Amino acid sequence: METKFIFVTGGVLSSLGKGICAASLGRLLKSRGFSVTIQKFDPYINIDPGTMNPFQHGEVFVTDDGGETDLDLGHYERFIDENLSKYNNFTSGQIYKNVIDNERKGLFLGETIQVIPHVTDEIKNCVKRTLQNKKVDMLITEIGGTVGDIESLPFLEAIRQFKKDVGKENVLYIHVTYVPYLKTSEELKTKPTQHSVKELRSIGIQPDIIVCRSEIKLKEDLKSKISLFCDIEKEAIIDAVDVNHIYQVPLNLYEEGFDSIVMYKLNLKYRPIDLRDWHELVNKINNLNGYVKIAIVGKYINLKDSYISIIEALNHAGYFWGKFINIKWINSEQLEIDSNCSKELSDIDGLLIPGGFGIRGIEGKVNAIKYVRENNIPFLGICLGMQCAVIEFARNVLNLSDANSSEFDKNTKNAVIDLLYDQKQIDKLGGTMRLGSYPCTLKKGTKAFSAYMKTSINERHRHRYELNNVYREIIENAGMIISGVYQEKNLAEIVEINNHNWFIGVQFHPEFKSRPERPHPLFREFINAAIRYSQNKD
Ligand code: GLN
Repeated sequence: METKFIFVTGGVLSSLGKGICAASLGRLLKSRGFSVTIQKFDPYINIDPGTMNPFQHGEVFVTDDGGETDLDLGHYERFIDENLSKYNNFTSGQIYKNVIDNERKGLFLGETIQVIPHVTDEIKNCVKRTLQNKKVDMLITEIGGTVGDIESLPFLEAIRQFKKDVGKENVLYIHVTYVPYLKTSEELKTKPTQHSVKELRSIGIQPDIIVCRSEIKLKEDLKSKISLFCDIEKEAIIDAVDVNHIYQVPLNLYEEGFDSIVMYKLNLKYRPIDLRDWHELVNKINNLNGYVKIAIVGKYINLKDSYISIIEALNHAGYFWGKFINIKWINSEQLEIDSNCSKELSDIDGLLIPGGFGIRGIEGKVNAIKYVRENNIPFLGICLGMQCAVIEFARNVLNLSDANSSEFDKNTKNAVIDLLYDQKQIDKLGGTMRLGSYPCTLKKGTKAFSAYMKTSINERHRHRYELNNVYREIIENAGMIISGVYQEKNLAEIVEINNHNWFIGVQFHPEFKSRPERPHPLFREFINAAIRYSQNKD
């Protein structure tokens, strides 16, 4: 079938869950047998979020092909269960760069370059570029930001024009808005939605469907009111009431008839839906029993979005074992004094140290790792977390008291974590790390192997520094095993400790590949070990 283009815009305020809404629609359409992909446009000028502070932007999600992307791509992958590409996320910066590069090449033959048509044309090209990678029945495009923002305007103009380019029967506009609930008068207010739709119409876009995010359910009369003011059939006003967990959203939207109205408006023949797997997942989530306490020690803990894929991956493993994951967030700087660790960590069932950059909080992470290594508490170290585990081991087991990463101490004599030669040649920050999927070979008989149950795996990377091969032999001789290697360059990708309950550090980011119905093997086994640890404690 000809590809259908579904554009999702947001109104009233940000953080409405537009990404979850797009992802949920993707899941519903996929469950009806359509092939689906989802892309996101972000209106900021950065080329990608790779150089942005996690405090401002949350996690940087990494695709197989090495794209550093918006965290919404993580939701898309988890909901539609497809691996996406760097061509599923474009920023204003990227679009302007493409236009300016083409201007410098002389491709515009002397024209004056303007937002309309040159920037809008490039936006439309980027919509289609996603399809060059993979042709699908449905392309869902989420426009970041809120309607009314200056920087969203070129995107809205481009998607308005898009209808004429590909035919109106192939395009659908969905507007996600907020319907606030006023506690004092106990009523939901539709005015902000009316204004936001008015704004959208002033640009020339009449939404086909409105998704109303609200605290309580919208009554029929309210839907009628929105329908009247916004010129949309009542059936196309979809209620998205707050939920306990995001995986409930597709089921609620289905109950509201969301995907049916999408098919109807796109003139598509009815297809039955198979949501059995998703129902099973939600059923599991609603029947969790008991919990394990996992500490996450990091420095971006005030913005939980900085660790969103890690939180999700832990939850997926919890769903698998039927347990809640109770996350204890600990600021790494709080653990810089060794004695704080027993106070903070004595009640946990597992420790996870996530990725990160820069020296702040490193000593706290090293102290925390020493505590769990010595006390046999399950440990999963990711990227920087793995590097800290190697530093800790070198300092406290190999007695190399100045062991460090050259990221934190350029002059250390024992750089157990160091830059590879090709990274030393790089002078630009953006997009220059070791990025994307690389193969890794596992050693049989290790904990890593018994998690994956195969010798050949692929995982996603985002880092500059590596375990320094000079130290490999003495590290292994002292009991820290290198259980996974990237053979082409002989890089240590996984370390683990033999005589420990469960202690694994990985140079890659397993959290990006975990799916709600299929937890990542390392997260699954980490939580398994944490459950065993908590049971033995009682
Ligand atoms: N800062 C470390 C490096 O660049 C770790 C990066 C990470 O944790 N993603 O290698």
